[in-house]
Amino acid sequence: MADNSSTIGAINVTSSEVKCPGCGGTIGIKFDPNTLTLKCPFCGLSTDLPQPGTVPVNQKLDFDSALQRANVSWDNVKKLIICSNCGGQTLYDAEQITGGCPFCGSTSVMPAAENPQIMAPQAVIPFAFDKELAQKCFTHFLGKKHFLCKGVTDSKLEDVVGVYLPFWTFSALTVSGYKAKYVDGTSVNCIWNEHIDDHVIYASDKFRHPMIDRVRNFEYNEMLPYSPQYLAGIPAERYTVGLDEAWERSKTQMKDRIRNTLWRKSSGKAAAEDLKTDFYNVKFRYILAPVYLATYRYKKTKRPVAINGQTGETYCDAPTYLPVLLVIAGILLLAWLIAFFISFTFSFNITIG
Ligand SMILES: [Zn+2]
Ligand SMILES: [Zn+2]
Repeated sequence: MADNSSTIGAINVTSSEVKCPGCGGTIGIKFDPNTLTLKCPFCGLSTDLPQPGTVPVNQKLDFDSALQRANVSWDNVKKLIICSNCGGQTLYDAEQITGGCPFCGSTSVMPAAENPQIMAPQAVIPFAFDKELAQKCFTHFLGKKHFLCKGVTDSKLEDVVGVYLPFWTFSALTVSGYKAKYVDGTSVNCIWNEHIDDHVIYASDKFRHPMIDRVRNFEYNEMLPYSPQYLAGIPAERYTVGLDEAWERSKTQMKDRIRNTLWRKSSGKAAAEDLKTDFYNVKFRYILAPVYLATYRYKKTKRPVAINGQTGETYCDAPTYLPVLLVIAGILLLAWLIAFFISFTFSFNITIG
């Protein structure tokens, strides 16, 4: 157990490192998503990690407990790297050599000047496949597109980086008072209780990578209790939407959800007006979930691609011949209309004449 509390540019945590049980080495150990093992480059030992869905993630923290909020033990020393190009804040293992920013590829990255206290996650959805399989997801995605431009179909991914994204989830017992207003104008005062479980809020507010939003549907029931092994060799984005702000967003979204439930329950006959909701027994979790970010080349430009590291869902803007086809169709339609008009005028003249 190394005391790293004085490591410069790293977050202070009292911690152990991810150690190889074979040789005790700590450097270069990587999480292998294909086999769900931890691989040591020196002695070659692979250590099995639990399969997703096999270990329940019981830990939910009390929103009102200052003590639980102060949990910053990542069980591994992390350094916070800030990108001066896009502002991306990424956490790396302290001993890991940092390349470019995973979001924009820029190499102007700097260690954070101060050591902020960054809450440690309670759960992680580990990567389910490696970069080679990410290429297959991309090829499959392109294969489903119609009228792709020449040369796009067999594009190869470049600059592939895996990164864990931050999410907050909230659970609460909600008690809502509202007026059920019917279409005929009558209204009734009602109360509705509902326990909402694991409402998810994305904890990053910066528009750093244009495609991330399109691949954010994770299977949250496959999360595992946090363990530093899943992050061995893989960076994690620091949350930029804090817990309190995320909870404010969650409350608004939970209320919308309740409003929709009430509308459905009344079979579309009564709208919930003056809806006031109280939240009790609020619990939260901080979760990390995997994406691959990459680019592909088209006509000398690099275009961004994002792939969900758990489900393989892929998204990018792929250029197609569709705009060209639409223009051709438009021209043909116009030509046909002109021809029709001319022949019509012509026959009309004949009739008159
Ligand atoms: Zn080893
Ligand atoms: Zn960046």
